[in-house]
Amino acid sequence: MSSITITDLRKEYSVKAGTEVAVDGIDLAIESGEFISIVGPSGCGKTTTLRCIAGLEIPTSGTIAFDGVDVTEVPANKRDLAMMFQDIALYPHMTVRQNIAYPLKIAGIDKETRHETAREAAEVMQIGDLLDKHPGELSGGQQQRAGLARTIVQDPIAFLMDEPLSDLDAQLKIEMRREIQRVHKRLGKATIYVTHDQEEALTMSDRVVVLNDGRIEQIGAPEAVYNRPANAFVATFVGNPSINYLEGTVDSARGDSIDVSVHGRRFAMDLEPDARVSPGDTVAVGIRPQHVEVVADPDTGHFGGVLSLFEPVDDRAHTTVDGPEGEFRAVTDANAPFDEGDEIGLVVDEGKVLLFDDDTGELLARAATPDDPVSQRP
Ligand code: ATP
Repeated sequence: MSSITITDLRKEYSVKAGTEVAVDGIDLAIESGEFISIVGPSGCGKTTTLRCIAGLEIPTSGTIAFDGVDVTEVPANKRDLAMMFQDIALYPHMTVRQNIAYPLKIAGIDKETRHETAREAAEVMQIGDLLDKHPGELSGGQQQRAGLARTIVQDPIAFLMDEPLSDLDAQLKIEMRREIQRVHKRLGKATIYVTHDQEEALTMSDRVVVLNDGRIEQIGAPEAVYNRPANAFVATFVGNPSINYLEGTVDSARGDSIDVSVHGRRFAMDLEPDARVSPGDTVAVGIRPQHVEVVADPDTGHFGGVLSLFEPVDDRAHTTVDGPEGEFRAVTDANAPFDEGDEIGLVVDEGKVLLFDDDTGELLARAATPDDPVSQRP
């Protein structure tokens, strides 16, 4: 137990101006034990989707089934799900033990059992020594652990989490991501995790669902959405800094192989299944900043430019270059010997170039390369 199947889910709200379509026909199947992230820009329908699964919203149409049983009309308190939100909202007047055990109290479980279960959950979250304290005596991270303990104590069929880490500082966020993954592995329950943070989604999930405007743009393993994005929306949303686009022209197309010219350089590419291009077509060539090397000699690279911004981040640096079509981003070593204003060259990893339809944004082709980049982690 337990798989969750969402079929043609649609949710409309009546608003002054008419109808707001929050979720516009979502099909999604979550396997038992799977960790799925729903990611996308603000207002794309992530929370509404989660609330429909939780039973907090009744869909306008479509169905939700748990293990093949239709629960679309089943109220939230009968769905046996545990939810964790951004606001962990521990009760300040209760001890940590009472807070963790609270869902069990609501469920009418006897005191001894719920205190024992709370102790076990606190042990899992490594706060077993804090059970008699009050929330006000805990650090932010300890409160978050108590919140997670209160979620797991319910022994639900699945966990639903809505941006639970967005209020935390960067260090704590990384720590809690690991905790959530550890707990997920230990309990083996399906988890649906909503976030607008694509990095969080890529690092934590078995599969990522990229939503846009109430619709699914792509469902896939983190490697797939990063290395083989279905379209330019996914390519742009996933990855930091954002992917660069240059205008290219299809030179030749022979069966599944095409050549594309970009500013006098030619790239050999393999067409995606069903993609059609003709010589002379204008296309968008996508190059991730991580797949570009900055070199000192402007004539050595595929393209040249002037380095306009050098921003160290950990051991890497985000560089911005006045490139062949304006701003171009590349990720380099933080110790790279470059200064702002330097004329530099940009060497593109030819095995990672992506090609998109100039009009529809659909992925048309990927670099012709013997190793399949989809099998590599970003
Ligand atoms: P965010 O990342 O900002 O939380 P989201 O992706 O979770 O956004 P939703 O909260 O699901 O998006 O909202 C999707 C759309 O539905 C938005 O346009 C929102 O304004 C609208 N919406 C959500 N709830 C309601 C409501 N109760 N009444 C009217 N419109 C709503």
